[in-house]
Amino acid sequence: MRRTYNRRPVRRGYQGKAKETFPRDANLDREVREAVDFWTVLANEMYNCDMKTPAVRYDLRGTTAGQAFGNLNLLRINTVLLEENVRDFIDQTVPHEVAHLVVRKRFGNRTAWGQKVMPHGFEWQQVMKDFGLTPDVTHDYDVSNSTVRTLPREFVYTCGCQDFFLTKILHNKIQSGRNRVCPKCKGRLVYKGRKENE
Ligand SMILES: [Zn+2]
Ligand SMILES: [Zn+2]
Repeated sequence: MRRTYNRRPVRRGYQGKAKETFPRDANLDREVREAVDFWTVLANEMYNCDMKTPAVRYDLRGTTAGQAFGNLNLLRINTVLLEENVRDFIDQTVPHEVAHLVVRKRFGNRTAWGQKVMPHGFEWQQVMKDFGLTPDVTHDYDVSNSTVRTLPREFVYTCGCQDFFLTKILHNKIQSGRNRVCPKCKGRLVYKGRKENE
């Protein structure tokens, strides 16, 4: 996991339900997958192991650039941060995440001495050094675009005097009983339907 500020990665389960946002440029998707494959093949040669090239899902948001799940042999990619930081992402974040999977494959969760393998501990740092890279834990990407959530205003309400275009969040609140009134006529907002997507 490679993120800003927060040095301690959060361990969370992965449901696989998040929607994927693929890179707008198909070549970029191919470049990511080629890089993932490159580091996996290299690691197999270096450590004489037989990792399969992990699956890639473009469903990561927020400040985290990438996330690795050893049990699923899966890498999650933050498409916004990828598109805004292509070179560093391919050259640093991709091998950073592959290195997590390499550590998992080689050591499991415990070292030979029975100690817990830390996510960015000695083993991971050694893999990064063997890759010829600096074991950087954090990235310094600008996360302003990857953390802004712009929800479409597609739920149309009316009070009688005008229409209101509301987000899904507000729509759900009103549907579960929250009252909203028009600031002008004080009339209660009534749901008309969903705006057609043009
Ligand atoms: Zn990491
Ligand atoms: Zn009104």
